[in-house]
Parts: sequence; C-alpha cells; structure tokens
Amino acid sequence: MLQDLLAVWFPQCCWGCGLSLPKKQQWLCVYCQSQLPKTYFEGDKNNPLKLMMRQHLPVESAYAPFYFSQNNPIQKLLHALKYQSKPKVGDWVAKQCYALLPQQHLLKQCDAVVPVPLHPRREKQRGYNQSARFGHYWAKQLGVPFLSNMLLRKNETKTLVRMSRKERWKEVKNAFDVETDTHYKHLLLVDDVITTGATLTACGNALLKQATQKISVLGMAYAQNILP
Ligand SMILES: [Zn+2]
Repeated sequence: MLQDLLAVWFPQCCWGCGLSLPKKQQWLCVYCQSQLPKTYFEGDKNNPLKLMMRQHLPVESAYAPFYFSQNNPIQKLLHALKYQSKPKVGDWVAKQCYALLPQQHLLKQCDAVVPVPLHPRREKQRGYNQSARFGHYWAKQLGVPFLSNMLLRKNETKTLVRMSRKERWKEVKNAFDVETDTHYKHLLLVDDVITTGATLTACGNALLKQATQKISVLGMAYAQNILP
C-alpha cells in the first residue's frame, strides 16, 4: 500500500530515456532494453574480448554481455551503479548476463568467483565494490564460493577513466596481492567495464603465481576501441 503511494509520488524512471517506468519494469523501459548493445559473444569461443585478453593473460574464457560506449543505456546504468549509489544494478546486469550463456559454457564451469577489488579506502567511500553484487549473483547461481577477500588492492590507484592505454598498464601493474591461499583450480575473475584488460591481467597474474591453474574473466560490459 505504502509502496503504491510512493510509486505515485516518486515514479521510477528509465535510466536510458528518463520516461517513467511501469511498476514491474526495473531500471530500463522495454524500448531501452531492446536497444541494449549486445555483444553476442556467447556463441563465439574465440570472441574479440577473449582474443584481446589472451594477448596478455592465458584465459580459458572471456565474456561480457554488452558493449560500453558513451551515452548508451549500459553506460548510464553503470554510471548509476558506480557513482549514484545503485549497487542493485549489479544484480540486474548479472541476471541478464547469466541468462544469455548456455549451461555448458566454460564460464559456468568455474569453481569460485573473485571480484576485482577496490582499494579499501575507495570501497569505504563508495560503500560497496561495484563488481561485488554482480560476482555474488554468479557465485550463487553456480553454487560456488564468492571470494571477496582473495585479492587486495595495495595501491590506491588513480581513476583510470582519463588515462591512455599505456598509462593504465603502468598504473595497475603490481597493484594487487593475493591475500588467502587458494585451492580452487578455475577462478572466475569479475570486473565492471573491461577496457584494455590491464586490471584483469594484473589480478590474473597475481592469482596465477599462487596455486590457481585456470582463469576466466567476465565483465558487465566491454569498452572496445574507446581509447586512443
Ligand atoms: Zn527508456
């Protein structure tokens, strides 16, 4: 009842186009949802993201459901997730993403999920790690542990948003430490937006120095060709 009244006073708006949303629709209207820039990587074992990642890290599999570009609905949603205190967007993207992949997909064979960590100070400022709910949803669906403390971000790296490719690689190299021993053989490393793969490579290299044998990577979106 109260919720219904609140919905009249504060209708939810679509994060893509700003129009008000019918009650059952979350985050995006039907139209904006139909306009989501899907990658269609799920049917391609050697998709462009995997080929890009394999130049730096021997990943088993790599996937992101959506492309990220300025002003597309995914960019607006992920902005809400990161900067407007909307951690639940992570659940929504995870659900869309999980549903796109067939059950036999390699990403669904991992035996634990590890999120790319924020520096503790930044996580405290934001109140959450934006990749955590995304990764947690996957761990829950797969019935495997979610290892949120496995990696530690040692350096408070500057935001990568305005950096060139070269600067990004330098900034994150050696930024991560493995905090706990691992006996898991195939880890699923999750991040929000994959751009150059520098952060995932630094995390993956730290994990491969331990007992981890295989790494797959998963992002909410792939920002292909947006850097000089
Ligand atoms: Zn819309």
